[in-house]
Amino acid sequence: MSESKDLDPADWEAFRAEAHGALDAMIDHIRDIRERPVWREASPEAKARFRRELPLEGKGLARTLQDFDRYIKPYAIGNAHPMFMGWVQGAGTPVGMVAEMLAAGLDSNCGGRNHIALDVERQIALWMAQAFGFPPEASGIFVTGASMANFLSLLVARERAAGARNVRLNGLNALDSVLVAYASREVHNCVRQAMELSGLGARHLRLIASDERRAMRIADLQHAIAADRAAGLTPFMVVGSAGTVDTGAVDDLDAVADVAQEEDIWFHIDGAFGALAALSPKLKPLVKGLERADSIAFDFHKWLHVPYDAGFILVRDPKLHRRAFAADAAYLSRAPRGLAAGETWPCDLGPDLSRSFRALKTWFTIESYGVERLGACIEQTCRMARRLEGLIQASPNFIMRAPVTLNIVCFGAADDPDGSLAREIVMDLHESGEAAPSLTILDGVPAIRAAIINHRTHEADIDRFMELLEAMRRRALREPHPEPLAEAPKGPGRTRLSQD
Ligand SMILES: *Cc1c(COP(=O)(O)O)cnc(C)c1O
Repeated sequence: MSESKDLDPADWEAFRAEAHGALDAMIDHIRDIRERPVWREASPEAKARFRRELPLEGKGLARTLQDFDRYIKPYAIGNAHPMFMGWVQGAGTPVGMVAEMLAAGLDSNCGGRNHIALDVERQIALWMAQAFGFPPEASGIFVTGASMANFLSLLVARERAAGARNVRLNGLNALDSVLVAYASREVHNCVRQAMELSGLGARHLRLIASDERRAMRIADLQHAIAADRAAGLTPFMVVGSAGTVDTGAVDDLDAVADVAQEEDIWFHIDGAFGALAALSPKLKPLVKGLERADSIAFDFHKWLHVPYDAGFILVRDPKLHRRAFAADAAYLSRAPRGLAAGETWPCDLGPDLSRSFRALKTWFTIESYGVERLGACIEQTCRMARRLEGLIQASPNFIMRAPVTLNIVCFGAADDPDGSLAREIVMDLHESGEAAPSLTILDGVPAIRAAIINHRTHEADIDRFMELLEAMRRRALREPHPEPLAEAPKGPGRTRLSQD
């Protein structure tokens, strides 16, 4: 491409052709996702490509695209693939991809000011308030992910607890007693980190024991609060989990809400993926009590497959939300009319000033698929989890390690007390490129974790996954094949295992 005086192409038609080509190639990539390995380690050549010096001269879009195809695209993490079951990650959608490209075209800065992107973001807050049973005036903004949303929620709760002491001005020293938070021991580590970052200190997060369903023991919560009050500390927040990261367990949110109400403390829910179960009429009863929370942290990039990243914080009391973050800088002052008009801007509701238009890809996803279809995909992942659970239970070689509440299946190999066989199986599976479950630690022992989030994961994939597990176990134990491994069903999975 020849040079122009600015960063626009000198030849728009040539650019158009290249851009269309790039989009076509990416559409093919998504369409043909099953034909490639879930994951493969980046080649030394690819890694070396990213240790070069800062380029003084550009090489143009076409050659940069070639490098993308060669050094980046083949080595992506793999969460779009139907056999990706590691961690809790969304799979993206073609619609989300297009929306993300359009958002980049507009290049809106969504920190504030008077433009339509903020109305789109407001629409998302309104929709989620409706889905979760919050009042329509509830306030919400996009953030990177649930980790950040949990942190910001904790800051709002801290603001409420500090009241007139003005912790934003005076710091924690202004408080006359130590603030204590509560969550089940299954809670995501980001809640602990939020305690660290907020200055309240991780030691003031009480991790409450969980029961056989891995839900918080409510009586233990009550005892912990009473003990802290007796010791002169100030309980200020309880975090309920709607879908824990390890096993997908859901706390009894109604019971947690009762305790929070009785104790007059903030009720926050980490619903990173699980809160969206509320979009399925079938699953909604599982997250009953969601509607009573003071704040909810959740992600659109998990169970709704909005391309990364798209976390969200929803707060019942919009005034309090604003009080925790709003500031009056001269360059952010509001005008009665024009581009600087508007009352509450997103920058009043969190620490980010410059923000991307995450609402657009979320709006496109919800508008174009509709909640029924999205909810049906969520239900399907739960059905796939049940199917896998059934296969694990039917196999003499594997054992379940935790109950299945939603879409996460934790299991281990039989006769593997220290989990070393489970670890081998998972690493072998990753390196085979055939499937990608993850490992977690349950009760001190490594467990295989299949988090089934992907809308592309169907029955045949689950059945194939079970075959792969058996084959990898035999390989790890150097057991001979009882019979040749069946050819992979057309589509899902791959057949390279037949060499083992
Ligand atoms: C994924 C997850 C988080 C963290 O969310 P991010 O979007 O990765 O920041 C927190 N809690 C739970 C239960 C999760 O599953």
